[in-house]
Amino acid sequence: MTASGSASAAISGRTNRPADLPAATGPRCVVVGGGASGATMARYLKKENPKFDVVMVEPNATYMSCFLSNLWFDDLINLETLEHSFDDAAASSGYVWLQGKLIDLDREKKRAYTSEGYIDYHYIVLAPGIDYNYKSIGVTDPEMVVALMQKFPAGFKPGSEHLSIKKKLANFEKGVFLATVPVGNYRCLPAPYERACMIANYFKKNKVKAKVVLLDPGEKPFAPKAPGFLAAFKELYGNIIDYRPSTNIKSVDPIKRTVTTEFETIKFDDGAIYPRVRAAKLIEDLGLSDPKSPQMEGDIDVYKYFAKGDQTCYITGDCRPMPFSKSGNTANSEAHYVAKVIAAHEAGKEIQWTSPQTICYSMVNGTPEEAIVVKAKYDKKTFGFTDVHLDNKRSRALGKADHEWGAGLYRDMGF
Ligand SMILES: Cc1cc2nc3c(=O)[nH]c(=O)nc-3n(C[C@H](O)[C@H](O)[C@H](O)COP(=O)(O)OP(=O)(O)OC[C@H]3O[C@@H](n4cnc5c(N)ncnc54)[C@H](O)[C@@H]3O)c2cc1C
Repeated sequence: MTASGSASAAISGRTNRPADLPAATGPRCVVVGGGASGATMARYLKKENPKFDVVMVEPNATYMSCFLSNLWFDDLINLETLEHSFDDAAASSGYVWLQGKLIDLDREKKRAYTSEGYIDYHYIVLAPGIDYNYKSIGVTDPEMVVALMQKFPAGFKPGSEHLSIKKKLANFEKGVFLATVPVGNYRCLPAPYERACMIANYFKKNKVKAKVVLLDPGEKPFAPKAPGFLAAFKELYGNIIDYRPSTNIKSVDPIKRTVTTEFETIKFDDGAIYPRVRAAKLIEDLGLSDPKSPQMEGDIDVYKYFAKGDQTCYITGDCRPMPFSKSGNTANSEAHYVAKVIAAHEAGKEIQWTSPQTICYSMVNGTPEEAIVVKAKYDKKTFGFTDVHLDNKRSRALGKADHEWGAGLYRDMGF
């Protein structure tokens, strides 16, 4: 692999047509992906250096957030809270949104090929999020993978998957609703446990005779918040959540609706099955993954985020290789820092490393709304948690703070 672009034959669709964009008015920065990382990055690149001409490339018509989506499953918020306009974000933040997809990259020419034509850039930031690895739960046959993705979507990528799960809950009459926790550093470590609580609360208040079976390869829920989740499981949902720790999934049959663990085969009526995550395949297709990374995350300078040897190409958000929590707040605070790194590079300066911040509320009760929380930064050498603030005692005050936190994050992303 050379610095000239992708190594993969899977990449195609280079076009000689430039994207239909106004002429650049300053150093052009292309941001790929409009999630917590990309939307924040596009906004803050412009704030850090108003001369930057920023173009965000994102294929989805609207932004729909993953964070807070568990609250929607329990009707604690409406869909309007989750869904936002990329037009509004771009207009208020002073960048251009190109609705399209990055397809290929020529890093020697500094040319990004998109579904809408090519864009020549000074800097490019890749923030395309995650993809799923169904092999991790023993599903390799492409027909079965498609059946599993469509019948029992994980609900950890924005958009259709969440709409599908919401409908499942509304239509669920009785029986076993299956939920799973992946192995590895997956997107939002506490979210599968929060989701089990929100789904159980939804069934409880709607008097649906359901069991939420939660299969977890770990010995207990996500470590810092384990006491808060275990208390909620026992005290609020004792006869609804059937939590099974230390349970590895060997295979899933989406047609027969069975999941096989090392102990038994469980029949389920409906569910949302969450396999291991990996960095978006785009990163690998562009030849930018670290081949040693089991989740194919970006091969970058871990303090400055640029692709090794190329200070014009950056990889951020949930496809970074550092073991930070793959969360919205982490991606957002990290984007503030990386925008500064790029602005400093353009000005021929250096800046000090700043830790991203993880702030993660989990709503464990929906009636009344009560949450728990962890806030932390990361150690510069080990990238382990430092400055941890933890509150595992569920409370209404934290429930209220959860909503405020979400609203603040949307605002900071420009929505
Ligand atoms: C149920 C759930 C609950 C969560 N709860 C919390 C929480 O309480 N707190 C918290 O902080 N975080 C939470 N998160 C995690 C948080 O949502 C993610 O970590 C965050 O969204 C990651 O941001 P990102 O920008 O890296 O990826 P994403 O938000 O997934 O954005 C990636 C974007 O890239 C685009 N893209 C992909 N390929 C291309 C391409 N080729 N060209 C152009 N664009 C492309 C995609 O369309 C997508 O819009 C939760 C997540 C889930 C699913």
